[in-house]
Amino acid sequence: MRLRFCVICGTNKNLQFHHIKPKSRGGDDHQHNILTLCRDHHAMIHQVRPSDWNNVKTLQKEGMERAMKQGKVKGRGPVIDTEKIEELARKGLGATAISRKLGIHRDSVYRLLPNFKQIRLQYHEC
Ligand SMILES: [Zn+2]
Repeated sequence: MRLRFCVICGTNKNLQFHHIKPKSRGGDDHQHNILTLCRDHHAMIHQVRPSDWNNVKTLQKEGMERAMKQGKVKGRGPVIDTEKIEELARKGLGATAISRKLGIHRDSVYRLLPNFKQIRLQYHEC
């Protein structure tokens, strides 16, 4: 399945799509033939014999749970919580700190919270 996170560690960085049945052996681009992995785990899986990780469903289920725990996935794809951003901004966190905490892009903080700088200013005046 094409997912937005690595099925092994749950990261959403450097994702690659691994063909369970290699294209060289007639594998296709169908959802069932694709495993989403980060660059590191893609490299790792090529060092492991297929018989050792053939339970793809279990792998994906575990990866999904891990990704959810990390707040990277809520149901279908990541959802950015504007209220959470505002709450963190009021606590005095900068855009970079907030983006790291929530696993979103720094620009998203400004896009979703246009008055971000004002909120930060209020914090400093308190
Ligand atoms: Zn990974």
